[in-house]
Amino acid sequence: MKIIPLSEGAFTIDSTKKFIPFDHKADDLQKRAVGSLLVEIQPFLVITDRDILLLDTGLGFTKDAELQIHQLLKANGIGAGEVTKVLLSHLHKDHAGGIKMTLPDGQATLTFPNATYYLQADELAYGLSGENPSYLKEQFEILKGHPQVTLLEGNGALDGYITYQVTGAHSKYHQVFWIKEGGETIFYGADDAPQLGQMKNRFVAKYDYDGRKCMELRKKWWSEGEAEKWTFLFYHDVKSPTYSF
Ligand SMILES: [Zn+2]
Repeated sequence: MKIIPLSEGAFTIDSTKKFIPFDHKADDLQKRAVGSLLVEIQPFLVITDRDILLLDTGLGFTKDAELQIHQLLKANGIGAGEVTKVLLSHLHKDHAGGIKMTLPDGQATLTFPNATYYLQADELAYGLSGENPSYLKEQFEILKGHPQVTLLEGNGALDGYITYQVTGAHSKYHQVFWIKEGGETIFYGADDAPQLGQMKNRFVAKYDYDGRKCMELRKKWWSEGEAEKWTFLFYHDVKSPTYSF
C-alpha cells in the first residue's frame, strides 16, 4: 500500500476555537493569544489495490480559490474524483472541514464526488445535536441522508480488508481504522493516537472526552503494533507522519 501524508501545515487554536495558520519561520507563538495551542493538521491518502482512501478531510481551507485538500491531492497526481472512500474518525472541525465545498453558484456539494463517505451514525447525530462547540454543523449536515454516505453502527469491516472500531475515547463516538492488504497493516488512530510522541509518553490529555481511555488505548496499540508490525499514521504530527515497526 502507498501512504501519502497531506499536510495542511501548522495552526494555533485559542479559546475562540478558531484555527489560525502558523508559519514556524515567520510567526511567533508568544504573540498569539494567551493559552494558544499549536496544532498540525494532516489527512492521509492510502492507495490500495482496490481503493484510493482518504482518512479525514482537514480544515477545509481555501487557497487561491481552490480547496487546500484538492491542491494537495493534485500535487501528488491524484484528482478529487479518484478518491473512492472517505473514512471519517469523528467530526471535530479540524477533521471535517473538507467534507463539502461550495460551488460558485452557492450550492454545497461533497468535495469528493465519486467517494463513499463512512462515519458512525451516532457521531453524525451527536454533531448535529449542537451540544458541543468542537463541532461545526454546517461542515457536515450535508451528510445526513446523502446517497454517498454509509452510516456505520458500532464495530465492523468494509470490503473484508478495512476494519473499524468505536473507541469513545478522544470523543464520544470516535472510531479508528485498520487497513490490511498484502501482509501489511496500516493503523489510523486519528485523535486517540494523534502524535508519535504520545505513543511513548504516558499522559492523560485534558482535551479528550475520556483521556485515561486514550492513554490506555495508545499503550495497547503500541504494543500490538510492535508485535504485529503495524504502520501508524499520525494526523497531528507533520514531523513524524508515520511510524513503521
Ligand atoms: Zn478531535
